[in-house]
Amino acid sequence: MNSNITTNLPLTIAKFGGTSVADYDAMMRCANIIKNDTSNRLVVVSASAGVTNHLVRLGQSDVSLAEQADIISQIKAIQLNITQHFSADIERALNTEIESLLEALSVLALAQSKQYNLQHSDAILSFGEQLSSRIFAQVLRVADVAGEYFNVQEVMKTNSLFGKAVVDVAQLRELCQSELAPKLVNKVIVTQGFIGQDAQGNTTTLGRGGSDYSAALLAEALSGTNLAIWTDVVGIFTTDPRITDQARSIAEISFGEAAEMATFGAKILHPATLIPAMRCNIPVFVGSSKEPEKGGTQIKKKVDSNPTYRSIALRREQTLVTVKSPAMLHASGFLANVFAILAKHELSVDLITTSEISVALTFDNPVGSTQSQITSAVVEELEQLCEVSVEHGLSLVAVIGNGLTRAKGIGQSIFDTLNDINVRLICHGASANNLCFLVNEADANTTVEKLHKALFA
Ligand code: ASP
Ligand code: MG
Repeated sequence: MNSNITTNLPLTIAKFGGTSVADYDAMMRCANIIKNDTSNRLVVVSASAGVTNHLVRLGQSDVSLAEQADIISQIKAIQLNITQHFSADIERALNTEIESLLEALSVLALAQSKQYNLQHSDAILSFGEQLSSRIFAQVLRVADVAGEYFNVQEVMKTNSLFGKAVVDVAQLRELCQSELAPKLVNKVIVTQGFIGQDAQGNTTTLGRGGSDYSAALLAEALSGTNLAIWTDVVGIFTTDPRITDQARSIAEISFGEAAEMATFGAKILHPATLIPAMRCNIPVFVGSSKEPEKGGTQIKKKVDSNPTYRSIALRREQTLVTVKSPAMLHASGFLANVFAILAKHELSVDLITTSEISVALTFDNPVGSTQSQITSAVVEELEQLCEVSVEHGLSLVAVIGNGLTRAKGIGQSIFDTLNDINVRLICHGASANNLCFLVNEADANTTVEKLHKALFA
């Protein structure tokens, strides 16, 4: 096994998601996971389940004072429900810390309701992780593990793009080596996912679900030997088990396949998580902190088997934009103009197919947003160039596997099963790891069920 630079000992970075740190029992299960494997020396936590959602609301501009107080008291209840399990003096000390954090939070919320700004919004969002990491460090100590709180903002330096800040990886590495690595020698350090700090000292966040990504970046910066993502499911499944009870956990999957899955809607990992892990070849484990004995999924560079079909991912609420222009016939530069408009609006295209005079493009609806990315401003600009049609209510189905561009009969195995479903757009050929298509929202579950039965029975 590799070892990390500073200590020559194996170093696992363990990340616990919101449900894993939702209450005292859940936190205690995580503490036991840490205790049972001494390579676990850096813990990255999410906010306790539900807290970030409360904070999202709290950071909005139209929250009344009464609602602010109500939200803060709900967050307080979630956290005090955990601290009540400690002995009286520990509980008292922690509650004092929690109360002073919540006091600071309410000052920010008040400022935000007077004058909204994104900077405050990120500062508000950061409180979930600030609270859970302090509490978890204490839970570790109760479990007889030398747990110590560490403020990730000391090392996670970012730009000032509030809400989706970009981490300075070189600086992170340098600061981790000098500030964090020495602490890992005889302590288990507990720190926050999701949050960072810009050069002016403002709090930033890496985007919803960003704790996985934080953990991966820290693993890279510390030359960790393993990254363990502990969540509430026993690894990555062949498809969403809520859609079909035939879905099963995958024991091993390659980085390439797992990245496709994360990108195409498998909600298990933040899509960027695998980038640092792949960059420095750190194997990633995904398992359930509720049932660690059940194992989980190992994601690594080389896997023993590379089946043609590995999984099916589904992403709902996709937007299909078709741009059509007879002038495109034999003309050049049309697509460049279309893409220039999309780039200007910072829109990232997912799938694209073209015909002689039209181009179809699909766009994701980012998690948590209620509004389509294709605003009327975008449509108006595109209309200067061509005819535009926009359709909503579509789902993107991605079949993920290996050698999909080389194997024979792929189209037949997939589409024969779907002969009574209206398939809207098919994308195949750019990657050997996926074949994607769109169906109407109403057909999405049936499509996945049928395909899963045909490809994984
Ligand atoms: N607490 C943050 C969120 O809910 C980050 C995370 O859990 O990964 O989005
Ligand atoms: Mg998550």
